[in-house]
Amino acid sequence: MSSTLSPTHSFRATAGWYAGDFHAHTTASDGENSPDALMQMAVAAGLDFVSITDHNTVAGLDAFQEPLPLPAIRGIEITLFSGHFNVFGLDGAPAWLQLFRAGSEPEPERRKRLSEQVVVADLMQQCQAEGFLVSINHPLLAPWGWQESDVYLSRIDCLEIWNDPTWPDNASANPATVDMWTQWLNAGYRITAIGGSDFHFTVSGADAHHPAIHLPRTLVYAEQLSAAAILRGVRRHHVYVSMEPSLTFHVQGHEGRFAIGTDMGEMTGNIELQATVSTHLPDVVIQIIKNGVPIGTKRCQGEQGSLACLDHVDGTPVWCCDVRDAEGRIIAVTNPIFAGDWLPPAAHTFGDFLPQE
Ligand SMILES: [Zn+2]
Ligand SMILES: [Zn+2]
Repeated sequence: MSSTLSPTHSFRATAGWYAGDFHAHTTASDGENSPDALMQMAVAAGLDFVSITDHNTVAGLDAFQEPLPLPAIRGIEITLFSGHFNVFGLDGAPAWLQLFRAGSEPEPERRKRLSEQVVVADLMQQCQAEGFLVSINHPLLAPWGWQESDVYLSRIDCLEIWNDPTWPDNASANPATVDMWTQWLNAGYRITAIGGSDFHFTVSGADAHHPAIHLPRTLVYAEQLSAAAILRGVRRHHVYVSMEPSLTFHVQGHEGRFAIGTDMGEMTGNIELQATVSTHLPDVVIQIIKNGVPIGTKRCQGEQGSLACLDHVDGTPVWCCDVRDAEGRIIAVTNPIFAGDWLPPAAHTFGDFLPQE
């Protein structure tokens, strides 16, 4: 039997949707749980995988006790004064990681040193060349938002569209991030939207926010449950993010059925989009969205709801599906189904899409 720490170790051999969290901290940085305790919390929360992403260190990844109960996707949160990004799938010992191992200086000296030493665009490029995934975190959350406006969007594989939804400022930062991501999609970028609880510690008290390792969950379709297969699913955009509802979303065309994240390629003609939602919430609205604009909406006041609408392929459309609660807040959103004669877009930077003040 292979080591449970191996990215290819299979915890379940079947293909399916697996729920996890792409952003969590341990005692290796400023979290309150040991890496093993955090894995147990993930099990208790019903998750299938978790990524440990400590600030500027992978020490937590070296502290695991085997066997792990779930795949632990090896990650790090590169945490600089100019923004935070996660790197996923950190296998082997890339040379640049030395920068993050060296030095035993306390925070904030460490962050200051790294902010001076790291050239963000270069490090992102290196990570991509080494096969790791680069994901910008909480890009519009002050004061930890993304300030490296000149970074090309081609350097980014994923975007954390939802960071800890219990954090008060994320009530506006998360929807603004979804809007910005929609603009990226409309411009032709195929960057996978994921979620992250950014879980550090349990907060109690009536007025406090209540972060939890499964808020939000990111659902990934993978051919089996292993860290490597989950990341392949992310690369293929077979992903949706949810606070609670379970979703299905696909396109039915002449040439078959196309799931979340699929590129239908060059095709013309009519199609049918079909979505279903399962939820314990009493009152939700499910929407099918084309290029950022709803083309079908249905209110569901039971545990199950479904929506279908007809459309046709014109240009290079992207279709997503989202679910909103009774107050109109987004509580689940899928990555797109793509179609058309797609070409990689012109070079845009992060700053080109910043919301206007
Ligand atoms: Zn962060
Ligand atoms: Zn974090």
